[in-house]
Amino acid sequence: MATRVFVGLGANLGDARTTLRRAAQALESLGYGLELSPLYRSAPLAVSPQPPYINAVASFYTAWPPEALLSLLQRIEARFGRFRRTPGEARTLDLDLLLYGQAVIRGNGLEVPHPRILSRRFVLEPLWALAPDLVLPGGTAVVEALRRVADQEVAFDAWC
Ligand code: AMP
Repeated sequence: MATRVFVGLGANLGDARTTLRRAAQALESLGYGLELSPLYRSAPLAVSPQPPYINAVASFYTAWPPEALLSLLQRIEARFGRFRRTPGEARTLDLDLLLYGQAVIRGNGLEVPHPRILSRRFVLEPLWALAPDLVLPGGTAVVEALRRVADQEVAFDAWC
């Protein structure tokens, strides 16, 4: 049985838009019914100077269990040259498993819903664009969560 999942995509090194487009193509191999949000641009949260982040959210249906899906996402990150060194560091590609249906998972190195969904407009904005009526596990509507982070700056970007 397939579950609808949402994956956050972010990049702020190299040709970020091309990386996101190619990463989205790679996600097609993990399930079916892929949908992609518009692109958004946001300032990095890191203190050290970094280029702006380009962000998007993809959704698709998959039969992969959550842990296996995370490994596959990490494999795609590695293919695009992601290096894990220090948290907050600039990156060629970051893929986060935001939601796995309505599942709540805590343990074995996997947290779903992703713990920072509610605090990040650059995640909530594309999530809302894809699924405006979505209600997160726990009962918060995406549209309500978005209202709470309206003070954060996020700009539309283009896929080209
Ligand atoms: P980051 O470098 O911020 O992308 O964090 C990656 C680490 O978070 C990895 O060790 C993952 O195993 C862990 N992690 C836990 N939950 C998630 C999730 N829902 N999506 C992506 N990574 C996760």
